[in-house]
Amino acid sequence: MDLKELYQEIILDHGKNPRNKKICNGFNKDAKGHNPLCGDKVHIYLKTDQNKKVEDISFEGEGCAISIASASILTEIIKGKEHTLAKKILEDFLKMLKDGSKFQLNSLEENEKISMMSLSGVKKFPMRVKCASLAWHTFIHALEEKKTKVNTEKA
Ligand code: ZN
Repeated sequence: MDLKELYQEIILDHGKNPRNKKICNGFNKDAKGHNPLCGDKVHIYLKTDQNKKVEDISFEGEGCAISIASASILTEIIKGKEHTLAKKILEDFLKMLKDGSKFQLNSLEENEKISMMSLSGVKKFPMRVKCASLAWHTFIHALEEKKTKVNTEKA
């Protein structure tokens, strides 16, 4: 299996069987996001503890396979991470979506990097970049308790 096939497999798997697709118990932060161009909607729920760690994260939403897979991958990667690390992961992820650059972070597991890299194919399709980044932008809004709703067309 080559890398491209592996990436497709990962996206299909997360799109069909999304992880953490529910409202997590005892969430204390949340945010909503909308991508009107494609019709993707996502609602991110976070439970953060006093040590600035994301104890639990989940999502609800509907949309294309890319947006669901991306939200599912997000929850898997971010769960248990400290806020500062989570933000660095987000920066790296968004950079990768834009120009295909490699991850700078050394602190991630190989399988975590591969999950995120699986979405790197969207960089050729600007519309799809919005699908893939929606959940991640929404996650930061939740973490930073911004009151506005994420809208990919009003960035
Ligand atoms: Zn979409």
